[in-house]
Amino acid sequence: MLTADDHDSGARRLPSTGTLLDRRERPMRDLRISVTDRCNFRCVYCMPKSVFGRDYAFLDRNELLSFEEIERICRVAADHGVRKVRLTGGEPLLRRGIEDLISRLAALRTPEGAPLEIALTTNGSALTTKAASLKAAGLTRVTVSLDSLDDELFQSINDVRFPVSRVLAGIDAAHDAGLGPVKINMVVKRGVNDGEILEMATHFKDTPFTLRFIEYMDVGTTNGWSLEEVVPSAEIIERIDAVFPLEQATATVPGEVAKRWRYRDGGGEIGVISSVTNAFCGTCNRARISTEGKLFTCLFADEGHDLRALLRGGADDVQLAAAMASIWGARDDRYSEIRASLTPELRAARSRIEMSYIGG
Ligand code: SAM
Repeated sequence: MLTADDHDSGARRLPSTGTLLDRRERPMRDLRISVTDRCNFRCVYCMPKSVFGRDYAFLDRNELLSFEEIERICRVAADHGVRKVRLTGGEPLLRRGIEDLISRLAALRTPEGAPLEIALTTNGSALTTKAASLKAAGLTRVTVSLDSLDDELFQSINDVRFPVSRVLAGIDAAHDAGLGPVKINMVVKRGVNDGEILEMATHFKDTPFTLRFIEYMDVGTTNGWSLEEVVPSAEIIERIDAVFPLEQATATVPGEVAKRWRYRDGGGEIGVISSVTNAFCGTCNRARISTEGKLFTCLFADEGHDLRALLRGGADDVQLAAAMASIWGARDDRYSEIRASLTPELRAARSRIEMSYIGG
């Protein structure tokens, strides 16, 4: 159980801004919050029906962090250096009243008086109805997950017969509502949807949308991950470059996880996120809050720190700030960098939390 002193002596900070640093000098900048563990999709590599079936015990409502609790955590995190909050899940648009949470977060300010960037990752299924209200509540932008344009394949991946046309309509609705630039994230799994890489690139080239290819990762333990299923980003770039010549673009934001590539003919850009073949732990500035309020300092962690117990145990903001400072200050994780040195047996023996619980 987490304990907190009522001061955070010992926490290292950037002298200029007071931003909290971990043991590897990485600032806490980006906070990802899972607002529900439920999803209306059953993507076979993320929430397979065999595990997340009818009898699966999702968290009770009172186990979830309330909007007030999330707002408090974000206020304190902003004081520690967080500049961007991403709402995720499960499917964040299933959380009732999500617009209320967004408007609370949009009202928060950094110590310099600036608003936070509020982003959301969604499967896009509810965007046609919700894009305008999300924008009105203060959402900055959305990222939509989309693994295929082929309706049959898309439905076999989401495993709930959800048609791709409705996600595409949701992407347009988000753009029209001003939630852009909308990013499209495609997780590539060899033998499943790697035949769709060029199709996706062609579809989103010369549009306002930025397509990003994500290497399939060994998160959680329900997806039976193996290295052979990963399509390295270098191969993806090679395949696209052979048809639409590309050139590398420079990073614009520190800690940016996607490597950006531009079409040489001016048709926009794509990104690749290589968490398996080119780990970016060295610049990882992300903290994650699980649906029930545990703070995780790595996507591949097996244990989180129970902030909800603190909040519900009557801790004030100073104590909450001290707890977050001591957790981040002790952070030393770099799982993706050491993954390659683990044998498959060691990797399998290591317990990891599910993506739907910690948030993607
Ligand atoms: N429901 C929302 C959505 O679909 O975007 C947010 C949560 S979902 C867990 C976030 C992202 O994680 C999705 O893009 C999903 O494809 C991705 N994801 C899930 N399992 C993954 C894995 N093993 N490797 C890489 N990405 C994964």
